[in-house]
Amino acid sequence: MLPFDELKIDALLVSAPPNVRYLSGFTGDNGLLLATPDSLTLFTDPRFTIQASEECACDVKIVTKGPLDQSALALAARKRRKRIGFEAGRLLFDVYQRMQAALPSGFTLKPVGAVIDKLRMVKSEDEIARIRRSVLTNSKAFDKTVRSIRPGVSESDIAAELEYQMRRFGAEKAAFETIVAIGQRSALPHAQPTARKLGNDELLLIDMGACQQGYMSDMTRVLFAGQPSRRVRRMYNAVLKAQLAGLDAVRPGVTAAHVDRAARRVLEAEGLGKEFVHSTGHGLGLEIHEGPRLGRRDKTRLQPGMVITIEPGAYIRDFGGVRIEDTALVTANGCEVLTPTSKELMLL
Ligand code: ZN
Ligand code: ZN
Repeated sequence: MLPFDELKIDALLVSAPPNVRYLSGFTGDNGLLLATPDSLTLFTDPRFTIQASEECACDVKIVTKGPLDQSALALAARKRRKRIGFEAGRLLFDVYQRMQAALPSGFTLKPVGAVIDKLRMVKSEDEIARIRRSVLTNSKAFDKTVRSIRPGVSESDIAAELEYQMRRFGAEKAAFETIVAIGQRSALPHAQPTARKLGNDELLLIDMGACQQGYMSDMTRVLFAGQPSRRVRRMYNAVLKAQLAGLDAVRPGVTAAHVDRAARRVLEAEGLGKEFVHSTGHGLGLEIHEGPRLGRRDKTRLQPGMVITIEPGAYIRDFGGVRIEDTALVTANGCEVLTPTSKELMLL
């Protein structure tokens, strides 16, 4: 499965927890994998003995002495796997130095790029099923919470309720820190919930995701307490139009940048190009942000089985922001929007 020959390596040391999980099933937070063309070995510590035996089909070595990387290197040395690849973007420098110092003569450490991350971009049927469940849980938590939102409730209260409901509907946890932003604070794309209370005639932006069976979902919706002004409606409709154009552009063979352009062009035509300060979306799966990145420069060609978000937004200082985000599956001839929640501007 891993391209050892192409990378000119005899073994690959996998250190990023989501990549360890992807290849071995291990969900613990202290694990290191050594993959060779004919073996897969997980190194972990005694706290995870039972867990690793339950989760992993591969060989498991429980390390009782010294760092995991030293045991992994020793195994590579015994197997005469001389060119050992490591995930350059994922390995801590002090671990690298320690391994370099312990390397037997004739062995080399070779940095490799995001090979496993690339494999992870196209999801298996099982992964897609998990993402679907995560998306549904997320939307159920949103629906249930929204029914109880009234003026006077704070951003923190709403975030707490959303995360509580997610867990009740089956999530292990939130996929990321839930974003709840009221009024002008909605102009901060990554606002952290505060004690700010919802007043009358105010925007309310919620960006939330669930993590269920290890897999993420991601959705943003905007609500309004009261009667929205014409300016708010115009901004909302422009972002919605961009979001639909983005979804419409998704199909196998087009680049991630092409989808970004399709959404961006709409906001530019609406006079909101400069207010759209981030990329149109991102892949998601075991991590909330994965490849491809639907930005101006990503040349990745979309393939069936990729799961991405489409989330254009516009943010105006001292006024507010609107973002609309769905999770979508790339299919053979377009995409399937997995998020079932309505995209009408919701009035409270
Ligand atoms: Zn989001
Ligand atoms: Zn997102």
